[in-house]
Parts: sequence; C-alpha cells; structure tokens
Amino acid sequence: MKAGSGNASVAKLLLGSSLSASFVFAIGANQAAQANSKTIIAVEPLTCDLVSAIALPSTPVTCLIDRKQDVHDVKITPRQAQTLKSANQVFTLGSEMTPAIKNWLDNPKTVVVGVSAIEIDEHHDDHDDHSTAKHDDHDDHSAVKHDDHDDHDDHDDHDDHSAAKHDDHDDHDDHGDSHGDGSFEWAGVFDLSAGTYKWSFAKVDGDYADPAMKMVILKSGDIEASEELAEELLESKNSEVKRNNDKLVAQEKAYVLTFNERKDSTTFTVEIKKAGKYAFFTEHMPFEFEADEHFFKDVSGDDVEPIAQVPEEGGDHHHHDHGGLDPHIWHDPHNIIKMGNVISKNLNKKISFFDRETKKVLKERTQSVNSILEDLDQWTQNQVATIPSDQRKIVSKHKAMEYYGDAFGLKAISLLDFLGHSSSLRPQTISAVIAELKKENVKVLFAEQQPPSKLLRNLSRQTSTPIAKQQIFVDGLMPTGNTISVAVHNTCTIVNSLGGSCNKKAGNQLANRWDTLTKR
Ligand SMILES: [Zn+2]
Repeated sequence: MKAGSGNASVAKLLLGSSLSASFVFAIGANQAAQANSKTIIAVEPLTCDLVSAIALPSTPVTCLIDRKQDVHDVKITPRQAQTLKSANQVFTLGSEMTPAIKNWLDNPKTVVVGVSAIEIDEHHDDHDDHSTAKHDDHDDHSAVKHDDHDDHDDHDDHDDHSAAKHDDHDDHDDHGDSHGDGSFEWAGVFDLSAGTYKWSFAKVDGDYADPAMKMVILKSGDIEASEELAEELLESKNSEVKRNNDKLVAQEKAYVLTFNERKDSTTFTVEIKKAGKYAFFTEHMPFEFEADEHFFKDVSGDDVEPIAQVPEEGGDHHHHDHGGLDPHIWHDPHNIIKMGNVISKNLNKKISFFDRETKKVLKERTQSVNSILEDLDQWTQNQVATIPSDQRKIVSKHKAMEYYGDAFGLKAISLLDFLGHSSSLRPQTISAVIAELKKENVKVLFAEQQPPSKLLRNLSRQTSTPIAKQQIFVDGLMPTGNTISVAVHNTCTIVNSLGGSCNKKAGNQLANRWDTLTKR
C-alpha cells in the first residue's frame, strides 16, 4: 500500500516522522518484552488491528510494520528483527503477502494467519464470465495451492525479485511512486550481425501510446549487468532527440524518440557497426506501439526477435504468481473471520487451563469481531447491489481484488501480479486488458495510490477510461482508521464510481463498533 501524496516533500516528511515513531515504539516493545512475557507482535498493520481487536485489552500488542510502508516490498531492519526475537508470539499474513517475513516462518513463535493458514471458499458462480487471463490464473491457483507449499525454489526465486525491486525503489521513493514504475518498462537483448535494422513505432487505434519515448542502446548481452547504467542514462537530462528516419547507435546516452503525429508510424534506423549482443532499454513496452508489424526488423524486412527480455514472456508458465497463492484474503470478510479464529485459538493456548474467566473474555471478543464482520459482509452486499449489473467491474493495477470480486460478484481485472511486480507485466497482458476493457465497456479505473501510477495513467489514456477520483487501499489499512473503515472506504469508492449509491453512514457505524474493541 502506498498512501501517496501530491507533494513529494510532504510525503517524505511524513515517512520520516512515522519511521521515527515506529523506531521509538520498537524500543518500547523490547523493554516490554523483558518485563512482560506476554508481548505479541503483529507484522502487517491489518494483522495488528485484527489481533488488537481480539486480544485482551491488557495484552500489549506491537505493530511491526508502519501503515505507510508497502508490505510486499518491506525489509526487516535489525531493530525489527530484535523486536521479533523478543516476542512471545508473532502473527503474520505470511510470506505470500510479506516476503520479508520468510526467514521468521520457522520460528516456533510465529503464527501465520494468511492464505496458507486458512481454508478458502471457492466461489464458482460467475467464473464462466471471467476472462481467459483470469481463468488461467485460477486454474494455476488451485493446481499449486495444495501441493506447492514446501516448494522453496519458488521462494528463492521470489527473493531475487524483491531484492531487485528494492534497488529500484530507492531511486524512486522521491516521487512517491509505487512498484512498477522504474525508468524503463522493457529491456531486450538482440544478437545482431553488423548492418542496419529498422525499429518502428506505430499508432494503435489512431494514437501513439505516447508522443515520445526514451531508449538506451548498450553493447551488452546482460540486461541485469547493464540495468543500472541504463537507468542512469534514462534519467539523465543529457539526452539526444531523434525523429523519423534518424539513425541510432549503441552509446552511453539516452535517445528521446519523438513520433511523427502526421504519420501512422515512425521508424528509426539502428546501425550496428560490430556484430555482437546489444541490450535495448525502453521507457514503454515496444508492443504498445505494434499495430500489425513486428517492431524490429532487419534490412530484408525479416522480424528480429530478442534472445532475452525483461519482463519475460510468460507462455504457459505462471511463475509470476509466485506459487499461485493470492494473499489479499481479507477483502472477503468471511476470510477475516477465519483469520481471527486462528488468532483466537493461538491466544487461547497461552492462557492457563484454569483461567476460565480470561478464556471466556477472549471467546466473547472473538464473537464480537465475527459479528461485526458478518454485518460488514451483509452491508457490502447491499451496497454492491446498487451498482448496475453490467458495471460490476474493478480494474486496478495489481491483482489484489480477486477475493472481493469473488465474494461480491464483481469482475476483477488487473495488469500486475499479486505483489504488484512490474516484472510480471507481459505484452499479452496489456493488450488482453485493453481489449477486455473495450469489450466490457468499463467506465472507470481504480488507482491504488495518489497520484495514480504511470501504468494506470497509460491504460487510462490508451482506453479513454477515466480514473476514479479516490484511490482504493488494496494492501491493508489506510493511513488512519481500522480494518472495517478501509473496507467501507473501498466499497463506497467502488460503488459510487460505478453508478451505485453507498450508505457510508451505516458502514461507519460498523467501524465505530470495531474501535471499541481495539481500544487499549
Ligand atoms: Zn498487494
């Protein structure tokens, strides 16, 4: 989750202050741990809110990760590791949601309450309406769900991803962008003999995907090794403008390719002086500019294909789903009830068999939590029912609203994988999503951050579909409020944007009931 802010320096300030706040909090937790053996740590903000609602008010609960951090990409600091070590119990959604917690899963004090810990109901009702893209993912989902838990290869693979992501992130935190918005969207290596080649950019549906685009060409056969230099060059102000029919060579300087609006396509000549491997880094996916011709051709007009590219073409191999477990389970309130029951059971184990009174209070608190969540489920159904049935579609950047869609009968369409990694973006996905938005007559897109990501803005422009004024919070809590208020916010944003009418007042009453439980 990225709360986002229109003003970069304000966002930075907020982040700075919230970090120092959690820093102080973590020291407090260490001291409390020594004094009180009952200290409970909850890793994700949403998990923390749920544990706080269930655990006895006398039990100290420490939230490990700040609300403003992106749990998909967070790293555990040495101090947080210290806090985790001192805890009596640790509750987490698990590594599917929070990859950084992977090393703590073997700790006997760690209790996973996420997707790998609960039984997920299968909603089969409206699957036939779903897109092919979604169907594949679902099949994948159920196929790996039951037998892939111990597959550590997946996890290792996963770690590489997040490590790479992190470097990327450090560069981009300044403008408050979330995942998937690096300085290049695509890179490809071509094995080329000396000679001239043509790289063309075509209008798709009467428009270029962008009026201009940056490109860097380097003499390199290794995308990863050249990535840093390429990013530096792409971000540098020292670039060279090129127009239709201009010549491009491998050099340590970025080109700004400017497209000719009066023509249906703009072509550049790539001159290769010495045979070998060349890496091309582009600000947009070259496929976004493909009408009916392949974008790269040799002098005789034959297609030239990359020998390696990032993002990789997926084919029928869904590694981008990281084992296929969607961690965003709480968007279905019934799943929060199941999470709560896991929490309650584990808290109960720590209460002495003879302490009947405490056990009773815990049971009552769990029942109160469940009753609010049942009411939230009913309330959500009532709100969604006001949306015209042909408009029940949620289009967002990363694949996080599937459970919501399944529970409440909306179709969820997204561009990126469960963790929002842009490495999962495939050219087929973009064109499939664009085609689907047109076919489905989608009226609005939902941003997951403010300002909306570049990816979503591109999609909005390419499909002439507006972005909803308010963002939705797909990865947990909002900067303020609780588990219920974020659900109410999301539902009202979705319902009101899709032509329904939301009873926010009734939703807020549920959020207030929840607040009485989390008070410490
Ligand atoms: Zn997510």
